Amino acid sequence: MKPAPFDYHRPTSLAETFDLLERYGDDGRILAGGQSLVPTLNMRLATPRAVIDINRLPGLAEIRATLDGLVIGALARHDEVEASALIREHAPLIAAAMPHVGHAAIRARGTFGGSLALADPAAELPACVVALDATIRVANRRGTRAIPAAEFFQGVYTTALAPGDVIIEVLIPRAEPQWRDGFDELARRNGDFALAGLAARVCLVGGAVRDARLVFFGVGNAPVRARQAEAALKAAGDVRAAQRALATELQPPGDIHGSPELRRHLAGVLLHRVVGSLLGPAS
Ligand code: FAD
Repeated sequence: MKPAPFDYHRPTSLAETFDLLERYGDDGRILAGGQSLVPTLNMRLATPRAVIDINRLPGLAEIRATLDGLVIGALARHDEVEASALIREHAPLIAAAMPHVGHAAIRARGTFGGSLALADPAAELPACVVALDATIRVANRRGTRAIPAAEFFQGVYTTALAPGDVIIEVLIPRAEPQWRDGFDELARRNGDFALAGLAARVCLVGGAVRDARLVFFGVGNAPVRARQAEAALKAAGDVRAAQRALATELQPPGDIHGSPELRRHLAGVLLHRVVGSLLGPAS
């Protein structure tokens, strides 16, 4: 199918972008990588009056290390993030997740900010930024603000973004050496959205689990932090205890791709696989 007609704008500054967002209101849509928006337009699931292409905005595609941590620009393409030595060094969790994001062709255009703005509950990057306690920086005509990732994802395709907001970058706090990161997901086919996935971080001190952050995706309306499983892991230092807690804690939805029972089972398998390997000998 072809999209319904729309006005196309390609602003070259944030100020111009804010003008356009204000002019069109709910009838204007930001275009970044287009990997989710364009199919939606083509299928006429969305018929905005204007598409506002932000790809010419300067300075939003950078990946840079700062004293506070790592900054990933909203327009950084998935394949640039995947290939980045800075990401591998400062955010190994994201490096491990990137090959699972769609296929190579999608990663060549899709952007880091677009994936967060879309907030697909089965997407990898929202879970990663929650696990990493990242901050999402957003700009609008009135200024900028920082939204903790834990508050950003509010439901299926729903975020804390307000009308007129543009994600400009994401700050990943500096990695501490005691933390180990692990990532895995289970999908029916390579490149599909996950039936269940896990972005995990475990803080090990003297071989004991001091802290843990277990964020599942594909098993709820948004990234799901499994706090009871985290508590069980800290108390017992044992993956089996965490699995038992997880089995009562997770309430996944069912759909044509998988029942709640299947997703709950897969989440337990991932917990065992990912956290089990993190608790093993340091590599
Ligand atoms: P766009 O499609 O351009 O925009 C998506 C939405 O975000 C739009 O509503 C847009 O207005 C808004 N938006 C974009 N950028 C900003 C911004 N800076 N500020 C505010 N709003 C913004 N994703 C996964 O995570 N995992 C997968 O396994 C996966 N598989 C895929 C398989 C297929 C076949 C396809 C087509 C896509 C898949 N995707 C997957 C989606 C892909 O990762 C997209 O790149 C991503 O979801 C959206 O990024 P984008 O840059 O293409 O955004």
